[in-house]
Amino acid sequence: MAANGVREKPSAEEACGEDTVLSLQDVLEEDEALQDEACAVLGGSDSEKCSYPQGYVKRQALYACNTCTPDKEEPAGICLACTYKCHEGHDLFELYTKRNFRCDCGNSKLKQLECKLFPDKENVNALNKYNANFFGLYCICKRPYPDPEDEVPDEMIQCIVCEDWYHGRHLGESPPEHMEFHEMICQACMDRCSFLWAYTAHLAVPGVTRITPADTELDDVKVEDEPAEDVKAEEQKVESTNHLNSKEEGAEQTSPSTSAASEQKCDKDAKTGSTCKLQEYKAQQGLTMTTATYWTSNWRRKLCTCKDCMIMYTQLEVLFLVDECDTVQAYENKGKTAEAQERRDPLMTALSSMNRVQQVELISEYNDLKTELTDYLKRFAEEQKVVKAEDIQQFFEDLRSRKRRRVDDMQYYCS
Ligand SMILES: [Zn+2]
Ligand SMILES: [Zn+2]
Ligand SMILES: [Zn+2]
Ligand SMILES: [Zn+2]
Ligand SMILES: [Zn+2]
Ligand SMILES: [Zn+2]
Repeated sequence: MAANGVREKPSAEEACGEDTVLSLQDVLEEDEALQDEACAVLGGSDSEKCSYPQGYVKRQALYACNTCTPDKEEPAGICLACTYKCHEGHDLFELYTKRNFRCDCGNSKLKQLECKLFPDKENVNALNKYNANFFGLYCICKRPYPDPEDEVPDEMIQCIVCEDWYHGRHLGESPPEHMEFHEMICQACMDRCSFLWAYTAHLAVPGVTRITPADTELDDVKVEDEPAEDVKAEEQKVESTNHLNSKEEGAEQTSPSTSAASEQKCDKDAKTGSTCKLQEYKAQQGLTMTTATYWTSNWRRKLCTCKDCMIMYTQLEVLFLVDECDTVQAYENKGKTAEAQERRDPLMTALSSMNRVQQVELISEYNDLKTELTDYLKRFAEEQKVVKAEDIQQFFEDLRSRKRRRVDDMQYYCS
């Protein structure tokens, strides 16, 4: 898989092989180019230790076990090390990477199995999110990958919001040619996060072919106006009979243009510091459609980070959009360079382990306390400790008692 989340359809031999699930081992043995890719997917994932003690890991290679949790059972996700040590020889679905997930191996979702690496787990990981991918099904058409019954050569692209994978031809608008985009957001997620439409004129790459029922016979492909979580529940049958231009060429990685980002920053600073970029763009009348959207590299840096927008992101559960370390690209780089780990934003790391209410509280208070809190969180990063919600509470309690003391002192001196 390339950095912009494009999975190429395997060749016919691979697709028709008796074992349709390509294990990482198969991939490693197959080809050196693929080996590089696989290493990138494993990124910072540890192959020896269960990732559970790290909590909800910002991004990790994740697997589902068809042997332990087959379809119709509770979905569960398993870390890389556990696939080696606890699910050896099992039928695994490789889910590539997912964000904010805590390993389920051996918890109540797996009825038979005890984790050999970290058995001391709580019953469930309440913040984990699951979709049909955990049963090996992808896209609005809910098909396996690779799909032995699908004759149409087509790539699969991962939506960076819901993290499901979609056929290029099932996205409402075909991906731009030569994959000149960095990230994709699917139709359902665009509906849910409709504020993004205001940004499309400035940061999105137009797709090539507008798919209309007239030229594709795809009248039955409909994405409902529902949150992504609900989409998974829908059994949407889609005929794979359309003949859109399919692309087999690899995805080109666009190198991050730092100049564009700094330009943008200056732009922002030059104007009255407090303006909300989103409101500005909204006033310019953006378009709203029912298609997926494709975004340039570094587009996330250009999203407004004013307090109102940050709270909106939190409520929509898309706060990760303004976290540069959230991208698959950043994760893959982490696998290649050790120092990338040190650049992790401590605030974002802390936020990713919290629920929404805690996040809103933290963001509201954070606005006034940026430096102090960042320094506090940095200490955790330096000591390689996981920040827990209690630690954040501790920070604010200390702060409050310091304030109180100051007030008390003043009263003392004045009396
Ligand atoms: Zn594990
Ligand atoms: Zn298993
Ligand atoms: Zn395990
Ligand atoms: Zn599909
Ligand atoms: Zn999506
Ligand atoms: Zn804003």
